[in-house]
Order: sequence, then structure tokens, then C-alpha cells
Amino acid sequence: MPIFQTRQQLSEHLALQRDASQSIGLVPTMGALHDGHLALVKKCLAENDTVVVSIFVNPTQFNNAEDLEKYPRGLESDLKLLDTVSSEIVVFAPTVEAIYGDRPKSQEYEFDGLDKVMEGAFRPGHFNGVGTIVELLLRAVAPHRAYFGEKDFQQLQIIRKLAELQEIPVEIIGCPIEREPNGLAMSSRNQRLTDSTRKASGIIHDCLQTAKTKFGTESAKDIADWVKRTFDKVESFDLEYFEIVDELTLTPSQNNLINLKYRAFIAVYADEVRLIDNLRLN
Ligand code: AMP
Repeated sequence: MPIFQTRQQLSEHLALQRDASQSIGLVPTMGALHDGHLALVKKCLAENDTVVVSIFVNPTQFNNAEDLEKYPRGLESDLKLLDTVSSEIVVFAPTVEAIYGDRPKSQEYEFDGLDKVMEGAFRPGHFNGVGTIVELLLRAVAPHRAYFGEKDFQQLQIIRKLAELQEIPVEIIGCPIEREPNGLAMSSRNQRLTDSTRKASGIIHDCLQTAKTKFGTESAKDIADWVKRTFDKVESFDLEYFEIVDELTLTPSQNNLINLKYRAFIAVYADEVRLIDNLRLN
């Protein structure tokens, strides 16, 4: 499996593929890979001749130093897992210095308000960090297609906006959320949950499902109040936000206007581990 640590080496390798008119797909990740990531990789393999998977824990998108420090890492096991899917995946696993030099710093973007709500409101600077690394990866790899999970749906919409604003010629492809048997969205952070909290975390998806059944007959405010009351009753979970928004603009529901697609978004601390999820409502 070809593994590169610098943009220079990666670009030289990809130049050969491009000369051979191969289509190139990119799957950006922060490693600690799981079946959610592999679903993106498999789709990318099915739709492109060459697949690049980047593995980089991007410091500029962490607004909390402890979260960055505790983020799970394990390049060896990530490579083994990727190898079970294909030995031809091109891996880009740079060091922080190779990306940012000695001073990691974000660019400032104007994402038309998409970055001001939910994750953007609770994690200041997060989306400038995401935009910075994704723009850098898109320019380094120059893929025909890039794959992102709906697990981070707000991020997916912001990356579509980024490609448009920065005029990066790439097709951004969203992929469905992969879940554990109890409905918990797969996440690298799930590794940090105890077995019992991991089991109990099925409540997050259960709440989203119930919100979906309530949507249409109850107001967004009543549904949000019900979600809050539900989490108030369970001691080991702390609800950070629950929002019902239009999935294109990420603005709050105006009582189910027809023609708009609404989605519920949630962020919860489960025993100190921050988990996010979302579900299409209509
Ligand atoms: P991360 O390594 O968490 O930055 O995730 C890398 C990519 O994988 C992002 O586009 C995520 O949205 C996507 N991803 C992470 N977890 C899942 C999941 N459970 N289902 C689908 N995509 C996911």
C-alpha cells in the first residue's frame, strides 16, 4: 500500500495516475478508522480508479486542547484495516509540521452563516480549521470526487460551500451514516465510551427517530422540549443542543414549509465524550 508523508511525494505519485487519465477520489479522515470510514472508502473505490485516503488529526479544528490530546490515534491498525479493503489505496499520512510548518493556523472563511449555528456555535473556530485542511487536501490531491459522511452533515454542507467559494473543481459526495446495532452513529470517539455507556448511547438515535415521528404533528419547539426532558432524566448524558433546521441553509424550521427538507441535529456529552448525530425528518 503506497503511503506518503509529504505533499510533494503524494503529488508526484498522483501525477503519474493523472497522466494515465485515471479518475481520482479522496476520502479525508482523522484516522482511528471504523466501518463508517470504510463505507466511504468502498464507495470511493467503486467510483474511481485511484483512491486516496488521508489520515491526519487536524489540530486547527479542535477548539479544546484536551479533546485534541485524547483523540484516538493508531496508524498501524488503520493501515491494516484499509488493507482488508484494498492494497491499492494511496494513503496520505502527513505530520502536523508537513502540513502547517511550526505554527498551525486556520484560514478565515465566510460560509454564509452555515458555520454560525450548532457545531459552529459550540466549537468556535472549528469550521475555519476544517475548511483550511480540506482546502489544502483538495488542492494537494486535486481529486475528481471527494467523499464525506452525513454523520457530520453541517461539515458536508460547509465543504460544498467551500468548494464553490474557492472555485475548487471537485464533486463533493455525501454518504449515509453507518450505525452500530443499537443505532449509535459510528465514530472514532465511541472507543472512549465504556461498554455500558456505549450501550446506553442508543438513546441518541432513538430520540431522533421519535422526533421524526412527532415532526409534522408537533411544533419544532415542543419536540425540542421533549428531547430536553428526555435527557434531563438520564444522569450520564448531557444534552448540548437539539435543533430542527432546513438542511440547505441550516436555519430553524418555520413550521414545516413544504418543499424544504428538514433535519434534526443533536450533540450530547455521554460521560464526557461528545457525540453528534442527525436524521432527515421529511
Ligand atoms: P473523521 O475521521 O471523524 O473526521 O471522519 C472522516 C469522514 O468519515 C467524515 O467525512 C465523516 O463524516 C465520515 N464518517 C465518520 N463517521 C461516519 C459514520 N458513522 N457514517 C458515515 N460517515 C462517517
